[in-house]
Amino acid sequence: MRAFQRALLGWYGRHGRDLPWRRTRDPYEILVSEVMLQQTQVKRVLEYYPRFLARYPTAAELATASEGEVREAWDGLGYYRRASNLQRAAREVAERHGGRFPASPEELVRLPGIGRYTAGAVASFAFGLDAAILDTNAARVLARVFGSTRRKGREARLWALAQAAIPPGRGYPFNQGIMDLGALVCTARRPACPRCPVRRACRTGRAVAEPRRPRTRAQR
Ligand code: SF4
Repeated sequence: MRAFQRALLGWYGRHGRDLPWRRTRDPYEILVSEVMLQQTQVKRVLEYYPRFLARYPTAAELATASEGEVREAWDGLGYYRRASNLQRAAREVAERHGGRFPASPEELVRLPGIGRYTAGAVASFAFGLDAAILDTNAARVLARVFGSTRRKGREARLWALAQAAIPPGRGYPFNQGIMDLGALVCTARRPACPRCPVRRACRTGRAVAEPRRPRTRAQR
């Protein structure tokens, strides 16, 4: 576990992606990015994210907008229900939390449209809590690294692992790192084990044959 944590954090520090929602700790801005990323690729979200925030820079402004306007601002991203949930969450923050987002995943998950993953993401990326996240990328990485392949109880096991794997106080970089590793290196179809930074700590990676090196003259 320690070797995995060290390798992942080191790699994220050097190679983590520079994305606009990583330059803020504002829970509303982070929530907007997470909701957009739920069913839309990063490349497309990069285009829409600044535009949406320019139109609705705060949760309060989104909360008071008309539904038609919000739909218009979301146009092109699809799955309009996400925008509607986002607005409902903004309204609830205004009405029930005095305009301030709650920090804990337990409270966040009670907001409309916020599931366990999104609650963990906002808690760790905005408030720096050691809250677990488990999206497809993180689940794949954890299952491969720790060899968690049994189907029965898989999800609960991976959530527990995602929580236990966070080094104390490092929820932000650890969660971002595991998502980047899943997106850039440990991809679904072709994991790049030979160049993976956590390979030595990974059960699956260690089982993959080392790439052959050309033999030296003395070895021939
Ligand atoms: S070594 Fe391979 S399987 Fe393990 S985390 Fe890296 S890319 Fe994924």
